[in-house]
Amino acid sequence: MKARHLHVRKEDTVEVISGKDRGKRGRVLVAYPAKERVLVEGVNQIKRHTKPNPAYPKGGIITKEAPIHVSNVMIVCKHCNRRTRIAHRFLDDGKKIRVCKHCGQSLDD
Ligand SMILES: [Zn+2]
Repeated sequence: MKARHLHVRKEDTVEVISGKDRGKRGRVLVAYPAKERVLVEGVNQIKRHTKPNPAYPKGGIITKEAPIHVSNVMIVCKHCNRRTRIAHRFLDDGKKIRVCKHCGQSLDD
C-alpha cells in the first residue's frame, strides 16, 4: 500500500480537535503515513497491563500514548499560536514550504 502524505509530521505541535482529548496540544512523536495516524505526546493515553520485562521489571500498569487518526488533529502555528489549516508556498529556490493560513508565516522553520 502506498503511503499517503500526512498534513502533519514528526516534531510538529498539534492540537486535538475531537475526542476525549479535544483541546490538548502536544508534539508529534511518530507519524504513521500508511495508517494515517500519529502518536502525540501526552494525548490518547491508555493504561496497559504488562508483564515484567526489562523496561518494567515489576510489570503492572503502565500509561502510554496510543496513535490517533490525523483527521483528529490540526497543526498549531508557532508564530500566531493558533491551530490552522495549511497553505503551501514555493520559495525562490523552488522549495515548497507549509505556511499558516492565519498569519502566512512558515510552519517549516
Ligand atoms: Zn500563524
